[in-house]
Amino acid sequence: MRKHLGIEKKREKKRERKMSRPHIVAIPYPAQGHVIPLMEFSQSLANHGIKVSFVNTEYNHKRIVKALAGESLIDLVSLPDGLEPWEDKSELEQISEALKWIMPGKLEELIEKINGGDGENVTCVMADHHIFWALEVAEKMNIKAVAFWPAAAASLALLLSVPKYIDEGIVDNDGTVLKSQNVDMGTNMPTMKTKDFVWACIGDFTMQKMIFDLMLKLNSSQKLAQRAVCNSAHDLEPEAFTLIPEVLPIGPLLASSRQGNLAGNFWPQDSTCLEWLDQQPLSSVIYVAFGSFTVFDPTQFKELASALELSERPFLWVVRSDTNTTDSICDPYPEGYLERVASRGLMVSWAPQQKVLAHPSIACFVSHCGWNSTLEGISNGVPILCWPYFADQFINESYICDVWKAGLKFDRNESELITKEEIKNKVEQLLGVEEFKESASKLKEFAMTSIKEGGQSNKNFNNFIEWLQS
Ligand code: UDP
Repeated sequence: MRKHLGIEKKREKKRERKMSRPHIVAIPYPAQGHVIPLMEFSQSLANHGIKVSFVNTEYNHKRIVKALAGESLIDLVSLPDGLEPWEDKSELEQISEALKWIMPGKLEELIEKINGGDGENVTCVMADHHIFWALEVAEKMNIKAVAFWPAAAASLALLLSVPKYIDEGIVDNDGTVLKSQNVDMGTNMPTMKTKDFVWACIGDFTMQKMIFDLMLKLNSSQKLAQRAVCNSAHDLEPEAFTLIPEVLPIGPLLASSRQGNLAGNFWPQDSTCLEWLDQQPLSSVIYVAFGSFTVFDPTQFKELASALELSERPFLWVVRSDTNTTDSICDPYPEGYLERVASRGLMVSWAPQQKVLAHPSIACFVSHCGWNSTLEGISNGVPILCWPYFADQFINESYICDVWKAGLKFDRNESELITKEEIKNKVEQLLGVEEFKESASKLKEFAMTSIKEGGQSNKNFNNFIEWLQS
């Protein structure tokens, strides 16, 4: 009898432990600009007592663990991506396709395994909006579902309107743009050219169709989720949040605001550049970085290199090992370049970008306008020179230049080249007109106020935690 009571007590204790706190399984889209903010959000939740198991593809998991600086507050787990070992893991479209076949079953198994073990039961699946199938798993398993949007609210509003653009004959059912025009989203909102739609400026027809289909699924994610959160701040884009009032701003998600190290990098950060920045005059350095995907053809790369030389200012330039389309044996720089710029230019393969942009030596940011880079720039009051390539980068460029007036666009010549003279002139114009810096400083205030005690993003974050605990 006594033995039986002992077993019962143990069981009761285990039951209590398993229900003691919420446990989120978080799943990012497997790209750098998606992993970093979701991991940042997860770390902030963990700081508030929520348990998080963060699921990466095996390939990304290995890279992230290798590049990790310091301890992780969350459990890092991995699942196979469904691609064969010889298939290219950086081909996102292939990965997205493969993931949706293999991962739902694996995710279900993972959740069942966690629930069968000694730790806390999984109470919520939080997935990137692009990972709609994870939210379907949550529905099937009867647990909470959260959709996470890592980009601007304006981008989400635009993409959720795709069915409307089909109805209006602007695009067809395959995503092919039928009308070349500007899409005006409203007052104080970015203007989009239809040719710059997220899917329309990437690769060939097959790729465009695959991405278009993925975009159409965003509406499913939005419907499946009981909560949708966005890495932005209300005051940065109030009109966009009016269009999608069910999406809650909880950003900007920055490692510095929780006094932690940036987590989720695919490459190790070269922190020596921070010491180099310490030696540069205040507000003097041009920081040049194009995120994790952008590649350069040799002519454009040399043109940018020459522009930085012509500018006669100190510069810090992130040149990833895969930045150039030339093979790695060729020297991508103009002849004698590295010796000529050695005294005032520094190239690194991956920077601690958030810390770089917070450094007082930085004067401006030459950026591809990925949303994370955009947020990190403006959260530090840094004006931006915009060099967008694809995806949501044109929307972000329009925010920066047309709406916020915190930056300038580059013009291309008749050969589609951004010349060294154009780059040098725009750097001078940006740094010569005080208004750009003033606008960027105002944006910094909006961004930082929102995440402070009492700010809109902070309130949403606290309400979100209460809901997780309910
Ligand atoms: N990043 C970094 N070091 C670098 C370049 C980029 O840590 O040298 C980070 C940057 O801070 C941002 C992310 O990588 O958080 C890039 O995301 P973004 O949305 O700007 O661009 P994407 O890589 O998705 O095109």
